[in-house]
Amino acid sequence: VPRGTSPRVPRVLTVANQKGGVGKTTSTVNLAAALVSEGKRVLVLDLDPQGNASTALGIEHHRGVEDVYQVLIEGLPLGKAVVACPDLPGLDCAPATIDLAGAEIELVPLVAREFRLRKALETYLASSAEGYDVVLIDCPPSLGLLTVNAMTAASEVLIPIQCEYYALEGLQQLLQLVELVQQNLNERLHVSTILLTMYDGRTRLAQQVAEDVRAHFSERVLRTVIPRSVRVSEAPSYGQTVVTYDPSSSGALAYREAARELVRQTATTQEAAR
Ligand code: ADP
Ligand code: MG
Repeated sequence: VPRGTSPRVPRVLTVANQKGGVGKTTSTVNLAAALVSEGKRVLVLDLDPQGNASTALGIEHHRGVEDVYQVLIEGLPLGKAVVACPDLPGLDCAPATIDLAGAEIELVPLVAREFRLRKALETYLASSAEGYDVVLIDCPPSLGLLTVNAMTAASEVLIPIQCEYYALEGLQQLLQLVELVQQNLNERLHVSTILLTMYDGRTRLAQQVAEDVRAHFSERVLRTVIPRSVRVSEAPSYGQTVVTYDPSSSGALAYREAARELVRQTATTQEAAR
């Protein structure tokens, strides 16, 4: 780091929603890939024992691979688990193996159990020369200690909301957890971004859900909505994001636009901090 400039501190966003199937993983990996195509350096932390983010990024995550479980439970330095994504220069990922399924319980008796990811990430960022701009953390569909670890390590929460009937149900619980973490563990934490996913503009219901979410969260909702598209759901089976698998598809274009909005948020936030 040249003298006189402070080391670059990345934005750290936790992608959370305790509902399964709302687009957390899809949004994590596609925003990551889209940010990389905007010239950003990005680190993805896979905190879901399913390892879907690792799969979509083409990263091995069978048992025995150094993973986030070993970082959280065994104190492995995060840098040992981080690997470069084969198809996406500028994108790194720390994978999850199925071992992580046990972490929810194994974390309980550990010292500083809510801070283990934060400590590992801080240590890694301080020593790494990667110069990340953004860290994205893909959470499991629960509000347990893994999600709390992600929220403690981040300053922002990005909530993907699926545009369907039960979209807002359960959101109160999630917002309450953010508030609890903010008050007790991490005062920087806030919900910075809402992303509407799997939007089908032909249905009145999707439009209504989108309107309700915008009424409630106003400017925190990205203007870009992610359309429902088969290409988005096909991409992971090729170990790819839709951004690389089919760059001209509606899903890829939407994630790239959403990523540009995220980048503009950064500019605005830095402006405000001056
Ligand atoms: P979560 O991580 O919240 O459980 P996922 O990102 O895994 O959710 O998405 C759930 C399922 O929906 C996956 O099969 C994924 O491929 C599919 N999916 C996600 N976003 C879209 C989309 N925009 N269009 C079509 N299918 C999608
Ligand atoms: Mg997921």
